Amino acid sequence: MGRLTAFGGRLQPLAPKVKAPIKVVEPFYQSKAWRELVARIKRERGNHCERCGSTKRVIADHKQERKDGGADLDPANIELLCFDHHQRKTAKARAARALGGQGTGGHQKSGSPSGS
Ligand SMILES: [Zn+2]
Repeated sequence: MGRLTAFGGRLQPLAPKVKAPIKVVEPFYQSKAWRELVARIKRERGNHCERCGSTKRVIADHKQERKDGGADLDPANIELLCFDHHQRKTAKARAARALGGQGTGGHQKSGSPSGS
């Protein structure tokens, strides 16, 4: 691994930007609003996984992920998960997205239902 074959001796001008999969923590997750909401939910529901009851490394997770159009700060869209369940759920969501984004969510036109 790692040995590059020469591309016909032609130098590629836009080489050196290596795309490392850096995990960027979105500023959202450091926002006061989010932290306070999580603290409140944990207080109300108890600081444990809502699926198995584990109290290990409880993570507040968006049921519908924000990038899929889920609501940021709606408690109804937030579920407390243990590390294990969070991993599984995230992997599943990622797999679903990789499969073309079909299924739940998908391309919804998020027209906000305004009107009375
Ligand atoms: Zn769990």
